[in-house]
Amino acid sequence: MRRLVTTLLLLSMGASWAEPACPPPEGVALQVLGSGGPIADDARASTAYVVWADGRSRALIDMGSGSFVRFGEARVDFTELDFVGLSHFHTDHAADFVALLKSGNFAGRERPLPLAGPSGNRRFPGLHDFLAASIDPETGAYRYLGGYLDGSGGLPRLVPTEVAGDADATEDLLGNSESTIAVYAQRVPHGIVPALGFRVEVEGRSIVFSSDQNGSDPAFIDFAKHASLLVVHMVIPEGAGERAKQLHAEPSRIGEVAAAAGAERLLLSHFMARSLRDLDGNVQRVADSYDGDILLAEDLGCYPIP
Ligand SMILES: [Zn+2]
Repeated sequence: MRRLVTTLLLLSMGASWAEPACPPPEGVALQVLGSGGPIADDARASTAYVVWADGRSRALIDMGSGSFVRFGEARVDFTELDFVGLSHFHTDHAADFVALLKSGNFAGRERPLPLAGPSGNRRFPGLHDFLAASIDPETGAYRYLGGYLDGSGGLPRLVPTEVAGDADATEDLLGNSESTIAVYAQRVPHGIVPALGFRVEVEGRSIVFSSDQNGSDPAFIDFAKHASLLVVHMVIPEGAGERAKQLHAEPSRIGEVAAAAGAERLLLSHFMARSLRDLDGNVQRVADSYDGDILLAEDLGCYPIP
């Protein structure tokens, strides 16, 4: 009962904890651009997050359907981004990425843009195939943006990295750049869908993004160890069907993972009608195992990291 009271208190305080609005002039903050899922029934954009540091938008994780509008509302600056991560190629994580490239066409960016995504399998493209299908200058659906692949036409070149299942999660994806942020990727179990979690480190803070996953791989607990903020997608309620559990973690598993990782704070996101229906009950399941601060994502919510 104590935990329930504490959790509900934190939930009610969430709005004030999230002040001031992003970006704070100093320090690190996470801003949620999209806190929803793939169904247009919840007035939320699909998944997207931006990491702010000292007033600058440094890393973008996912660009799901609807997040294009939030990107503009949050005044994220395309020229400031050091990194874009696409966790997997479901529409609610990647559909607005090409629209962002078109918008970025007008931003005046010159330096290349590092980008990472998973390698593919028979059912899903890897990052290179996704880019080719989208913007290959000869065959891509949006071939008029093909300059992003080679830097022609005044467009900044994308620098894509595919992360395979056997990749080393301790390798900094930006290791060869001048960037003052570090980004790591780890494959996560999301049914048959190749998917990545990301860890962004800046100014001594670490923000770990679970992406969509079922929580079954203990390697992710190491990957998320002592995160300043762990962002986990609470898509399904407790007791969901087996097929859903192949794709997503139940709330009780989310709590176990966050506790085992020793995360300082937990931000629950990627809500859908089925996980919102008994939100308090689902959050309580998380809190049964995890006794740190639990926060609930809202579109444009700003979460400074002390
Ligand atoms: Zn999703």
